[in-house]
Amino acid sequence: MDKKTIALVGNPNSGKTTFFNMLTGANQYVGNWPGVTVEKKVGTFTHNRIEYDVVDLPGCYSLGAFSEDELVARDYILSDDADVIVNVIDASNIERNLYLTTQLLEMGKKVVIALNMVDEAKRRDISFDLDALSRALGAPVVPTVASKEIGKDALIEAAIAAMDEDKEPVNPVAYTDAVEHHIEHLHALLEERALPYPADWTAIKIIEGDADIAQKLHDMRVDEDVLQGVDNFRRYHGSDSFELDVVDSRYAFAHRVAEQAVVRPEQEVVTLSDKVDRVFTNKYLGIPVFALIMLVVFQLTFAVGQDLLGGVAVEIIEGLGGGIEAFLELIHAPAWFIAFMNDGAVNGVGAVIEFVPLIAVLYLLLGLLEDSGYMARAAYVWDDLMRRFGLQGKAFISMIIGFGCTVPGIMSTRTMDNRKDRMITLLITPFISCGAKLPIYLVFIAAFFPSYGGLVLFLLYAFGIFVALVMAKVFNQTMFRGESSYFIMEMPPYRIPTVKNVLRNMWDNVSGFIKKAGTIIFLVITLLWVLAVLPTSVEPYSEFSLLGRIGAFLAPIFRPAGFGTWQEAVALFAGIPAKEAVVGTLGMLYAGQYLEEGMILVDAIRQHFTPLTALSYMTMVLLYTPCAATLAIVAKETKSARWPVFMALYTFAIGWLVAVIVYQVGSLFIG
Ligand code: GDP
Ligand code: MG
Repeated sequence: MDKKTIALVGNPNSGKTTFFNMLTGANQYVGNWPGVTVEKKVGTFTHNRIEYDVVDLPGCYSLGAFSEDELVARDYILSDDADVIVNVIDASNIERNLYLTTQLLEMGKKVVIALNMVDEAKRRDISFDLDALSRALGAPVVPTVASKEIGKDALIEAAIAAMDEDKEPVNPVAYTDAVEHHIEHLHALLEERALPYPADWTAIKIIEGDADIAQKLHDMRVDEDVLQGVDNFRRYHGSDSFELDVVDSRYAFAHRVAEQAVVRPEQEVVTLSDKVDRVFTNKYLGIPVFALIMLVVFQLTFAVGQDLLGGVAVEIIEGLGGGIEAFLELIHAPAWFIAFMNDGAVNGVGAVIEFVPLIAVLYLLLGLLEDSGYMARAAYVWDDLMRRFGLQGKAFISMIIGFGCTVPGIMSTRTMDNRKDRMITLLITPFISCGAKLPIYLVFIAAFFPSYGGLVLFLLYAFGIFVALVMAKVFNQTMFRGESSYFIMEMPPYRIPTVKNVLRNMWDNVSGFIKKAGTIIFLVITLLWVLAVLPTSVEPYSEFSLLGRIGAFLAPIFRPAGFGTWQEAVALFAGIPAKEAVVGTLGMLYAGQYLEEGMILVDAIRQHFTPLTALSYMTMVLLYTPCAATLAIVAKETKSARWPVFMALYTFAIGWLVAVIVYQVGSLFIG
């Protein structure tokens, strides 16, 4: 017997991924905003000794073919791979959520409704007539609280029962007479062709003027007379005249069902959440509050991550390094190997690992903000400002995700249905400082601005956002003109952050960081080490080594920005495979010179930089060419080789230019 599959479908933020994790025990990222799950994820669970597949689909409000994540969900549902669809609905927003439900019912799928977040509905004094809801939809309804695993078993039972049932689902939506008439007509035409899609649904899509389905029919080479029929229909009726009719019928249905099944209090309950929002999302206070919160985050990151825990990490690494060296000497390992382990592994990779506590604290705090629901508000607060720069508020979500890592930040642009918005957001996301750049700043901050760590970091991040916005405006007026889409995002209420979500978020970032240090960064460092000690006839780590020569060739480019030793040039290019390698490389290259004398990397940095060149170097790092993984995802998302090349070059140019300006203008003042 084939393994049965349950698909989770629902609006963004309704709790699908929470269900997915609950059922499969997986650890998928649960985000408190739309666009976190942009690809479908598959897992399994066992119930009564039978294994089932579960698929987590991207959240969507509709199953039109407007944005790529909607299409992912729709194509999957059409593929018939799912034996039952669990439609996750946010109980405090039933009417809006039912718009999607009607489309699932139109598709003739077996649907089970998970009426989720009933805890929050209860807080708002909203109650339900579950039987009425179930009757109106012709589908079983199970009340749940996914985050507390309430209703889990009932939901599984209902889903399994629905799979095994023979009853054909019926579409309960009543359309206008004209639409019904056309459905009937098209249905007759389509039914005989054994299409891979339900005939009624296909008919509705044709009536709606859905371009994707028309294309698919063409691609399938269905008989000429069907295509003719479809084309004739579209020619006679224009494209939108019925689209609105269909949409209206769905809304009317959702409205009617909500009226029958939902009991709302006479007067809306004003929750604490609503009150807090009056300040946090206030037109004037919103952005200052955001800035203040971020400043506190960075200060705390330093206070806890660096001052409290940072020293411990350094000691562990030094201890380990000493231990490894002693051990290697004991077993009479070859001298070159000891040198490699010492300079490459300990000073290079170790320089990166030292920042684990800081990264952990930063992502713990960002995770708290996100899971509490604050970040979704920040996106709302920023919407206005973003618009002025030709972006939509959704771009802010990509940016916030980009604080962690640019790659998922860029992937999240898939939720944008407007190509212009999407391309611009994609092109500016690299200016949002990612976690991998953090260690670089931290070394420089430790060397020159130790008492202002949080502030410098805050300013760097803010400057990254600023450059991103300016570039958005530039792109808007040159390469991509046109209107931005409006961004509708309902706010989740404030929630007490779930320990599990927050820790998972933190661990995702920290483990990714450690993994990268052990793999790609180690490789880069190894390669550079080999180049730095060859040829054997010259002093290792000197400018006469192979690496020294390459670096010396590149270094003059950076002289106008005030930094220009071959080591610093090499480190920047070493950062292209992965950003953390900048620190690793500096750690290794300066190790040979200074560390013997008992200095640490920070001292070496002090020898080679001034506060001003440290600033220009940090700006370069902030803005220049993103890492290889980012360029690769840009190639994938744009399906083109030109965009990543463009991105690599234009960001390099901007980084260089700004670094030069910082240095040159700074020199005027400092002399
Ligand atoms: P998705 O976008 O549909 O995948 O939604 P997620 O699973 O990422 O959940 C969105 C947010 O809602 C997370 O912060 C969850 O912890 C929270 N959440 C999920 N289910 C419930 C619930 O039943 N009650 C409450 N209060 N919060 C929930
Ligand atoms: Mg999700």
